[in-house]
Amino acid sequence: MANPITATLSAKLSGLLGFSPAVPLRRWAPDQPLVDGTVLVLGTGADADAVAALLSGAASSETGEGPGWGLEVHRHPAPDRRYAAVVAVLTGLEHPDELHAPLLAAASTLKGLGRGGRVVTLSRAATSDDAPAVAAARQGVDAVVRTIAKESRGGTTANGLVLAEGVPVTAPSVVGGLRFLLSTRSAFVHGQLLAVDTAAGALPADWEKPLTGRVAVVTGAARGIGASIARTLARDGATVVAVDVPTAGEQLTGVANAVRGTALQLDITAPDAGARILEHALARHGRLDVVVHNAGITRDKLFANMTEAQWDAVIAVNIAAQLRINEALLTSGDFTDAPRIVSISSTTGLAGNRGQANYAATKGGVIGMVRATAPLLEAFGGTANAVAPGFIETEMTAKMPAVTRQVARQLNSLQQGGLPVDVAEAVAFLSSPQAGGILGRTLRVCGQNVVGA
Ligand code: NAD
Repeated sequence: MANPITATLSAKLSGLLGFSPAVPLRRWAPDQPLVDGTVLVLGTGADADAVAALLSGAASSETGEGPGWGLEVHRHPAPDRRYAAVVAVLTGLEHPDELHAPLLAAASTLKGLGRGGRVVTLSRAATSDDAPAVAAARQGVDAVVRTIAKESRGGTTANGLVLAEGVPVTAPSVVGGLRFLLSTRSAFVHGQLLAVDTAAGALPADWEKPLTGRVAVVTGAARGIGASIARTLARDGATVVAVDVPTAGEQLTGVANAVRGTALQLDITAPDAGARILEHALARHGRLDVVVHNAGITRDKLFANMTEAQWDAVIAVNIAAQLRINEALLTSGDFTDAPRIVSISSTTGLAGNRGQANYAATKGGVIGMVRATAPLLEAFGGTANAVAPGFIETEMTAKMPAVTRQVARQLNSLQQGGLPVDVAEAVAFLSSPQAGGILGRTLRVCGQNVVGA
């Protein structure tokens, strides 16, 4: 909501509808500290010690875990102390009784968390192979995280990393995921449990430029979320190919020039779109590493009134084109150096939404597509994941009627719409080398939207 007139109108409308004003979220800025204050690391055992060592800077590069982060870390809550973040390491749980100590210690600090505080849990995925008490404890953590998120105030977020059995807390995607969730890059990620499936991936040489040397294609990059993704990937060191339809050519050139990348005017529904993307990336930049399927359209209509044209147009752009492009890349032999596919879904793809049956089919389709595509990339260190935004302030959502739009903004625990950059930050994380152990997952960027909760 950069426009002050829109902001004032939306605040007035919000007041008329009886909503309390939202707390502005802190977002990434250059030279910002990773965490602005002391971090409380809760939990006992080797995993908690390793996480505390990583955060406090005591980790040794000899172990191959890279240098620590130089943060001030406490292991027990000090009375009257305000913390910037609380990390609860719960990977060793064997019974729900063991939730008491770490979680009640976390609870005692919550009122004192500063604005934009962070609560992050590290736990293990509950599976049918677990003993019932172990599965109960593990599954319980997920619901506690979602509950803390629903209770939190002041732009504080609560999220968890859920590690598959055997994945160490020092795995690149756990370390990278923890860093993402602690930082302002995850401002609109709230109430989410992000799975880490394997210990694959690599820590970047420079946390500020993890995409150095990588070439990334972003579709629908002329405006909105796509333009923000292009800027964010370029900020993180990538060379960006910005793709959009020829009619958006001027805006597209503007975005490509701003990120010192190149523009490719292309309708992604063209049968040879995959070949043209690859051809452009190889000819202009010598490689292709990351593909972000962001281009998308809506043709909303109640299902009972849906026309064939409305249905077909949305299927063609939002899912069929992605499947065709992926197929071309996967069979080319030129997309094999730890490649990343990140596709934009939507909370509508999880929960459905009135008037969006066609869109829901495609956004649910994206979730299925990445789950089934990830195994095809795993052998060469690749991943495919999705990001599911909730309500984001863009030209797409600006078309909604004012009252519906304002209600949509409030329908999440942070009580505001997200910004395109919030989606872009999640895409940048999933595109990074450190996210190599996250396979076929969907990360919601929705402020804990009640839709699809
Ligand atoms: P937008 O309409 O502002 O931008 C979409 C871009 O995609 C446009 O530049 C458009 O020209 C381009 N595009 C459309 N069809 C294309 C085609 N055939 N070939 C190439 N480019 C094409 O939309 P946005 O709000 O920035 O949304 C971006 C993505 O995020 C979409 O996939 C959308 O479904 C998804 N999303 C948005 C929201 C939100 O609240 N805005 C929420 C959930 C998901």
